This record gives sequence, structure tokens and C-alpha cells, in this order.
Amino acid sequence: MDPIQESVQDDNTGVPPAVATSPAPLRARQSLPPKGACWYCDKPLDNVRRFCDKECADAFDEEKEYTR
Ligand SMILES: [Zn+2]
Repeated sequence: MDPIQESVQDDNTGVPPAVATSPAPLRARQSLPPKGACWYCDKPLDNVRRFCDKECADAFDEEKEYTR
């Protein structure tokens, strides 16, 4: 029986490693496919972007979080 090992295990419970090491949580917008226009304001875009700028992306995420 080693009391030090026991306390280390206690520290790890309830804290999944993925949460501790992930740089940023996955936002709603990151699961969206590019559709050729801004998902928030529908401004035409190229085929690889989902939003025309960061403000639209942030606004879209906020709306998604409040309208679940
Ligand atoms: Zn936009």
C-alpha cells in the first residue's frame, strides 16, 4: 500500500485528460461545411470559408448557444 499513489489517483478523477490538454473547445461553427456564403449574414464567399470575418463567426456561435 502506497499512500502517495492513492492521492495521485484521486487528483485525476473527474478531470478527463482531453479537457485538460485541449487548446480550445469545439465550437458549433467548426462542424459546419463551407457553403459558398457566410453562415451568419449570407454574404458570398469562396468555397473554403464559412464566415466572412471573425465577428460573424462569433455571432453565429453565440446564437447557436442561446438557441438550443
Ligand atoms: Zn458574415
